[in-house]
Amino acid sequence: MDEAEQIIAMTTSSRQACSVCGDPMDPPHTASCLFCSGTFHLTWDTRVEVKDCGRFDLDDQSLALYFTCGSCAASRGMGAQAT
Ligand SMILES: [Zn+2]
Ligand SMILES: [Zn+2]
Repeated sequence: MDEAEQIIAMTTSSRQACSVCGDPMDPPHTASCLFCSGTFHLTWDTRVEVKDCGRFDLDDQSLALYFTCGSCAASRGMGAQAT
């Protein structure tokens, strides 16, 4: 596959690949990492069996919810699993 074909394959695919594990993601069970802007698997709906490739946290100062992908969580010494 040459570069042009790869771009077409990427743009015509409706499912985006997770920046952590590389598997396709099903919207809306995705989140954007605050640190690397990568999109990854995340859900807070416990009825849905979707793997989590990152975590969400509440900022102590702004009380805003933010998301961290598993890669950035690991590099920042945080656990990969949302609590
Ligand atoms: Zn993933
Ligand atoms: Zn990240």
